Amino acid sequence: MHCPFCRNPDSRVVDSRTSDDGLQIRRRRQCTVCGRRFSTSESASLQVVKRSGVMEPFSREKVIEGVRKACQGRPVTDADLAQVAQVAEETIRATGASQIQANEVGLAVLPPLRQLDEVAYLRFASVYQGFESLEDFEAAIADLRSDKELR
Ligand SMILES: [Zn+2]
Repeated sequence: MHCPFCRNPDSRVVDSRTSDDGLQIRRRRQCTVCGRRFSTSESASLQVVKRSGVMEPFSREKVIEGVRKACQGRPVTDADLAQVAQVAEETIRATGASQIQANEVGLAVLPPLRQLDEVAYLRFASVYQGFESLEDFEAAIADLRSDKELR
């Protein structure tokens, strides 16, 4: 991508963000020669492979719906949900993969959800990490507790 002002072929990325529909990545770039800034936009297709083997385009809305269920009755706002979904999407896109398994989407949701609400995190983790017994819950809770003690 040449600088539109001086045609220098080299620029550095100063900011990247994904559009709300998850289909475009906008980057702010700064020319390394003249220092002027410009934007580029690229579309990145990301396919999710469902357990049935069917592929569908990644949808941030679907992530939000899944997280919303785990957040029922919790003090979590729509903005919080959007934030969790954005962090998860950025984590996935940072891997550079164009195709991911549905459960990897769930795993990418866990860290930001853990920051947001521990009860919702446990509910969500129990599904995506396949908790099978009380011991699994106890281990996850012990993990949350030990994190708190470190803070
Ligand atoms: Zn330039």
